[in-house]
Amino acid sequence: MTEHTVISPSESGLPKAPGRLYIISAPSGAGKTTLVRMLVESDPGVHLSISSTTRPPRAGEQQGKEYHFTSEPEFLKMIERGEFLEWAKIYNNYYGTPKSWVETKNREGLDILLEIDWQGARQVRKAFPGAIGIFILPPSIDILKARLIGRGADAKDVIHRRLESARDEMRHVSEFDYVIINDDLSRAFREISLIINASRLQYMTQRQRYAGLFSTLC
Ligand code: 5GP
Repeated sequence: MTEHTVISPSESGLPKAPGRLYIISAPSGAGKTTLVRMLVESDPGVHLSISSTTRPPRAGEQQGKEYHFTSEPEFLKMIERGEFLEWAKIYNNYYGTPKSWVETKNREGLDILLEIDWQGARQVRKAFPGAIGIFILPPSIDILKARLIGRGADAKDVIHRRLESARDEMRHVSEFDYVIINDDLSRAFREISLIINASRLQYMTQRQRYAGLFSTLC
């Protein structure tokens, strides 16, 4: 071994560093889905959890890709069986994060991304206090309104309801560790990548990953 040798997790004989859990929340219209897609495509180390939902698929959405689309009776049975790490009812539809998938990936030391609302974020933080919360805000209320209207065929009352629920979501921004203002998509993407890469260098993670090196040096 030379003085420049880095001791890998397997060589240290100790468990790998546990995976990190990232929660990304935002009001509808803040650009969260686009940012998450960019992140997952650019960083193979980040694994996106696929939720179950009772909401019907939108045009272009595929079973098992955006969501596991499920009937309400089946979703309620899944709740009873304890299959969700968290679940919430949003716009009259249920959404839930698969518990066993998250726990398995986490044990394997993989980084997981959850794209969920503030109610789910709260529940996840209880189970995983180290989860890192990132909240995405639109640059202004007018831009948020324009984005919600620009989505197309929605009736006025639907847009009004979305705006109300966006305001409700934004009231919970203080519960998150990081805030990104999405006024420029490339910059917002760079900022999320920075958060994820910086968190990979946190003391506890590095200490577990390079346990051998730490015991030699420190
Ligand atoms: P959409 O129907 O537009 O895809 O999502 C509506 C909202 O549900 C978004 O805020 C999204 O983040 C949230 N959501 C999606 N999956 C989950 C989940 O598994 N749990 C919770 N709590 N929220 C979710």
